[in-house]
Amino acid sequence: MDSGELSVGVDLGATNLRVAIGNREGKILFKLSERTVNNGDEYAISNQIHRMIKSAPSNLLSKVIGVGIGSIGPMDIRKGIIFPPNLNFKFAFLTTPLSEKLGLPVYLLNDCVSAVVGEKNFGAGKDIDNLVYITISTGIGGGVYVNGNLLLGKEGNAHEIGHTVIDYRGKLICGCGKPGHWEAYCSGKNLPNFAKLIMEEEKINSKLSDIIKYNFSSLTSEVIFKLAREGDKLANVVVERCSEINAMGFANVIDVYDPSLITVGGSVALNNLDLVLEPIKKKVKNYAANSIPEIIPTPLGQDIVLYGAVATVFNPPKLPKR
Ligand SMILES: [Zn+2]
Repeated sequence: MDSGELSVGVDLGATNLRVAIGNREGKILFKLSERTVNNGDEYAISNQIHRMIKSAPSNLLSKVIGVGIGSIGPMDIRKGIIFPPNLNFKFAFLTTPLSEKLGLPVYLLNDCVSAVVGEKNFGAGKDIDNLVYITISTGIGGGVYVNGNLLLGKEGNAHEIGHTVIDYRGKLICGCGKPGHWEAYCSGKNLPNFAKLIMEEEKINSKLSDIIKYNFSSLTSEVIFKLAREGDKLANVVVERCSEINAMGFANVIDVYDPSLITVGGSVALNNLDLVLEPIKKKVKNYAANSIPEIIPTPLGQDIVLYGAVATVFNPPKLPKR
């Protein structure tokens, strides 16, 4: 039965901050987006979220029973603090100041964990007890239910699959500072670095590739996928190697969590289903020992974190004791 209760969902990214108000059925009634503030003190982000929430219509705000935040990490969910490496804050207080100002409970989850909550409540995972969501975007991340339980970990970081090692040689260093991580090779941000590494290591004749026209600081993953579609040899080698590594990453996830469904989101995957998702589906069986689950693009698209943040308020996470 619809009680009329509403919740606020927040999608806090390094670039954009989005706020939505939704109901128990996953209907979004209000949505607002701004660039994430990147200067000020450790309360700057919570102040921005508070201001955005307060700009919603009062007839909706009066029915709001709580706030869910799906945020970039790493974080300490018990303290409600994030430590965002891509912003100019060492840390930011989120849940306590917001809760005090609004007089409402405020819940914090990693953005990909929030996404899998969205999938479970409003997307393709409704009847699925063993569910994984994987994003391939600027970074690579995941959210996981095992036997119906949402995995959190001691500080809420139990799903940093982008930071699992896929290359023992560790030729590429991840944004987190450690070598050989999946994300350092195949995320949207890092694919150009991987292209450069392949070119250097395999001495691919630069005449075979239009990639050489771009200096590597301006090369983007979008350009690599575009050139691959146009038949560029190096771009195709990069896409091929990346699909092999993505298949290894998915296989690791399948062997660790044994899901029956994996939904996939993130701009790199959703904009390149043919060159990213299809090859993973084909190759993952070469690496995974467990049986292969269904792998599909998320039906919730780019709003999946917001949906999860809205759902979190109606299904609060049980915080880890230690
Ligand atoms: Zn890493």
